[in-house]
Parts: sequence; structure tokens; C-alpha cells
Amino acid sequence: MRERTDVCGRFAPSPSGRMHLGNVFCAVLAWLSARSRGGRFLLRIEDLDVRRCKPEHARLLEEDLAWLGLDWDEGGRRGGPDGPYFQSECSELYAQALQMLKEHARVYPCFCSRADLHAASAPHLSDGAVLYGGRCARLSPAEADALRRRRAPALRIAVPEESVSFTDGHLGHFSQNLARECGDFILRRSDGIYAYQLAVAVDDARMGVTQVVRGQDLLSSTPRQIFLQRLLGLPTPEYYHLPLLVNAEGVRLSKREKSLDMGALRARFTPAELTGWLAFLAGQQPAPEPVPLRSLAACFSWEKVPRRDITVPARLLNEARAE
Ligand code: GLU
Repeated sequence: MRERTDVCGRFAPSPSGRMHLGNVFCAVLAWLSARSRGGRFLLRIEDLDVRRCKPEHARLLEEDLAWLGLDWDEGGRRGGPDGPYFQSECSELYAQALQMLKEHARVYPCFCSRADLHAASAPHLSDGAVLYGGRCARLSPAEADALRRRRAPALRIAVPEESVSFTDGHLGHFSQNLARECGDFILRRSDGIYAYQLAVAVDDARMGVTQVVRGQDLLSSTPRQIFLQRLLGLPTPEYYHLPLLVNAEGVRLSKREKSLDMGALRARFTPAELTGWLAFLAGQQPAPEPVPLRSLAACFSWEKVPRRDITVPARLLNEARAE
């Protein structure tokens, strides 16, 4: 039987559109990090929001990864021993975790609308999110019951006035005071969809993931996931947060940039040319020379990966644009 402590990495995309350069960069680094240590690699499809995520995108995503030469041992349509690997099929598991959280922490219904949350007086956090003021935490049971008759509530977990710290494998020490920098957060939305924070904490543990490699935009989510892992008695994996890819103006490359989606990239580059560019952006080679993905694992080093935003050279953007 497999040892649960063996290195296991994962790529966990949300299939809300065709993958773009930023997603592929993350997939490749997660794969290199696991494979360079002889680890397993799995693909988890984070299609919690069934209205935004389409099976067609999940299918294309697998095809794009395979085109690149990126393989996985478990997950996606391939399945495996720790399935389901599609979050849309895991509601029962999240419901069990939610039940357990209710036994260890205060979970309360929240009736606030988007407008309530974004009221002018709401303090904004560094990532643009709003710090929840705790209005529904102060409702009496009778008030909550009355409101419940009018609309379905979201469920929030109350966080303590406590700092959660961890050492990121790439960025070093990171600490966040949950009450002041995050606030009580949502576990299940009012439409019944479980929150990413809960799903990811449950899934990384049940799949035996030992290292999480993802974009720095998720760095500030990590303390919430560690907080949930502790309440649920789950192990904490190693975290490596990647710099974001930006254009010359310092603006993050977005899914809207059609010239950098996999359809356009596949039309312009061979797999080795694209992995050559990605390896160059990740500091693994001095120039964007073509190189097949499988040759990169042997010499992969986290030390060489930049820690700050990576400016994608105009040449890559322009080559991709020059349809
Ligand atoms: N599904 C998330 C995304 O596509 C990534 C989650 C993670 O890596 O933890 O942004």
C-alpha cells in the first residue's frame, strides 16, 4: 500500500474557461516540484460552481495538459483510489466536514446580501475582499428563524482573535490574524454551494496531497485552510506560492487575454517551445530555448524561481498575438 507521507503534488484548476498562460505556468511548476522529488501527481477539477464551470472546459483542460506532456497518476477522467476528483461530486464529503466543524466551532447563518457586505463602511482587505462585520453573528435564534423564512442563509464560521502562521516553501514566513485580516468566512453559500476554503481543505487531506503549489493570489487564503485543517484534525501540507505573471504595465495577465489561452498558444508554439518559455519565466533556464517538459524535472530548483511578479516579455505576448 502507498505511504501517505510520500510526496504528492496536485494541480487543482477551476474549469471556468480555457486554460491560459498563468494556469499552465502553475500546472507546470506544481508538476516539476512533485516529479523532481519522485512524487505522485494528481489532477483535481474544482468545479464547485456548476454554473460557471463546464464539463467541456474540464475535458479541454486535460487535453491541453496532455499536449504539453504533463501527466498525472490520478484524477480527472482517469479517476483513482481517492476519488471523486471532481468537486461537483463531493457534496456529501463537504457536508460531513461541515457537521464536524459545527461540533468544534461556531457556525452561524448569514443573511447579508452582497450590498450589505459591500456597504461603504465595510473595511476592505488587502486582496480587495471585505472584512465581515459580524452582523449576523449577533442575531438571536428567534431573529435568525424569522429571517430564514424569507431567504436561505449562507453559513459562516466564527474565527478567533488568533494568528495562523506557516512557512511557505518559496516565500518563507507568513502570518495572518484571522479576526482582523480575514473575519468570519463562508463555508457554504446561500445557494447551497460549498466554499472553496472548505472543499480544498477536505480534498487536499483525503487525497494525501503533501505539497500545494499555486499562485500568490491564494496566499492569503492559506491561513483559513490551515485553521479548518486544525479543527478537522487534518494534516497541513507544504505550501509554495508562485509569483504572478504580469504585463509590462504590471497588470496581472487575465483569462480575458484571449491571445494567451491554450487555443492560441497551441496554434503558435510546439509543446517544447511553450515549456521552454515557461521554464525561462520560472528562472530554470537563461533563455526561452525549446525543452520538453520531462527533461526539466531532473534539474528543477525552487531557489531559481523568482519571488516577485514575473513580467512576461513583449516577445511572448506579441508572438502569441501575431495571429
Ligand atoms: N481552483 C483554484 C483556481 O483555479 C485553485 C485552488 C488551489 O490551487 O488551491 O484558482
